[in-house]
Amino acid sequence: MAYGFRDNILRVNLTTREITVEHPGEAFFRKYLGGKTLAGYYLNKEVSGECDALSPENKVIVSASVITGAPIPGSSRFSVCAKSPQTDGFGSSEAGGFFGPELKFAGFDAVIIEGKADKPCYLWIKDGEVEIRDAAHLWGRATGEVQEAIREEHGDKRIRVLQTGPGGENLVRFAALTNELKHWNGRCGMGAVFGSKNLRAIAVRGTQKIEMKNQPDVLAFTKWFAEASKKAEGVQEFGAAGTSSLVTILDSMGILPTRNFQSGSFEDAAKICGSRINEELLIKRESCYACPVRCKRVVEYISDDAAQNIDPAYGGPEYETLGAIGSNCGVSSMIDVCKGNELIGKYGLDSIATGVTISFAMECWEKGLITAEDTGGIDYSWGSKDFLKIIESIGERKGFGDVLAEGTYRASQKIGKGSEKYAMHAKKMEFAAHEPRGKWNVGLGYAVSPQGGDHVVVEHDHCMMGEPNMDPDYLGAGDIYPMMKWGIREPIDPIGLSHKKVVMFVMLQKMWAVCDTLDLCIFLTEPSRRLTSMEHITKFVNDICGWDMYLDELIQIGEKATVLGRLFNAKCGFGAENETLPDRMFEPLQGGALEGMKMDRAEFEEAKKIYYDITGMDRDGKPLYGKVCALGLEELWFE
Ligand code: SF4
Repeated sequence: MAYGFRDNILRVNLTTREITVEHPGEAFFRKYLGGKTLAGYYLNKEVSGECDALSPENKVIVSASVITGAPIPGSSRFSVCAKSPQTDGFGSSEAGGFFGPELKFAGFDAVIIEGKADKPCYLWIKDGEVEIRDAAHLWGRATGEVQEAIREEHGDKRIRVLQTGPGGENLVRFAALTNELKHWNGRCGMGAVFGSKNLRAIAVRGTQKIEMKNQPDVLAFTKWFAEASKKAEGVQEFGAAGTSSLVTILDSMGILPTRNFQSGSFEDAAKICGSRINEELLIKRESCYACPVRCKRVVEYISDDAAQNIDPAYGGPEYETLGAIGSNCGVSSMIDVCKGNELIGKYGLDSIATGVTISFAMECWEKGLITAEDTGGIDYSWGSKDFLKIIESIGERKGFGDVLAEGTYRASQKIGKGSEKYAMHAKKMEFAAHEPRGKWNVGLGYAVSPQGGDHVVVEHDHCMMGEPNMDPDYLGAGDIYPMMKWGIREPIDPIGLSHKKVVMFVMLQKMWAVCDTLDLCIFLTEPSRRLTSMEHITKFVNDICGWDMYLDELIQIGEKATVLGRLFNAKCGFGAENETLPDRMFEPLQGGALEGMKMDRAEFEEAKKIYYDITGMDRDGKPLYGKVCALGLEELWFE
């Protein structure tokens, strides 16, 4: 009997309509576990480096993990991987919610989608049965309507729908996927890959329980977590405020991305901060599968003008959205930001890329590189009155929105006139709402992450600088953060990229990749509010699967996720020259507490070299053959 995993990988070819199920066996699941690592294996094995990301040759892999569906807090997540239409390299995006566990309850560990349907379709999975169904009636409709229609069609409100929106249908390069309208596989354009395959959604319903080898210990952990989280102040605060409280915190530190990363401080930060939204618009908090923390926001606004109403079905903005479409676009209106969040949800876009692409265009407008003639009369000044219209034009690829739907990098290539220097991206993927000049680790992460401008790569610098984080009691469970076990016992400055800091970066990247492999929520495993330690994780993997895995084995599988991403990028022709940051990061930050701060280019380049050396990459950032063999990935090697 398989414990934890199902040993069922579903393969659906949309061109031939062939549906098959593969059973790779226990050794395979112990080697790859799931999530980004399992999906990264299939991507390397089956997708060519040359293929166009929006062509039928690309494949999209949706993967849960060996622990998904067990009642572990934070185990709600799943990964979606494909060649990215944004970066033209390794694309991977994780989301929480309920879809991942439901896929397991329906009998599958992962789904591989190949080819392209000849007309709009969606995939219907119910307890091991799979069907490709017509989606002509769903095409062009908002995500909320589609979720409702699919549930009505099957007469079951508990169906979990993973879908892209009209943005994905229109091949907006940063189109996303959503489940429950509130949880997002936001980064890397996975929604555009769905759209390119004429695939609107995967709807799933399952009733099969997950078998666990040592169920009593798993349930004991869950009970302990529920009780400990009630006592842990950090967890309680996080549940109450979510990530939205970061707006004013980062503003006071001078690292709130403002007006396209020109400044680190926004004069109206207090107007769009989480506490204000919570006081005025929050109607409830929600959660992901099996998580007692309930950090997800749900906001509502009812106006005399119905067009201004904000629909709670789309949740509420989290920090990344507030930063990207708020301060970074100079938008001071809380209602506009929340309405923008709703629109982005309806069109199925990545809120980070949407905000950073609009802020890029706003800076082009400010500098006179685009005018009303280019934009069809739409105003692109900071905090524009046309802000919501701009989002719609991107989702519909209409007018100048069609240019922006290509993302900052490609839009800057079209606009020209030196606009390239205002495109805030790494590997063509827009920066998240975190300012590298005040968090150099995050800058290094943007550059060397296989996905490009991704903020979920390693612990952010400020979590490593103060005494409290070095105090075992502060960590809730009495566990000591792994970096301390691995020999780094003193606080590290967020400014700078010392050798020691790069060593820590590498350690933490492996740990965070364990979370992306097991599809665990990082909010429950980081220092300021973490209750779940790496030892807990190792134990519950073994309790669920009946294995005897050591922590080292688990960490090595996390490392595999990054190496698989880098190997795929090398296959796509990436080199060290793709691992850069925009010039702006090496120029002084304007305004705020860190006014004048800039990254040091020589230190950054040196850090990259050390990173390559420690992680077993050649000078171009490609994994060395020895590293690939050490991780048991030699079948994927190429010269
Ligand atoms: S901490 Fe928040 S995001 Fe993470 S699993 Fe719990 S509810 Fe979901």
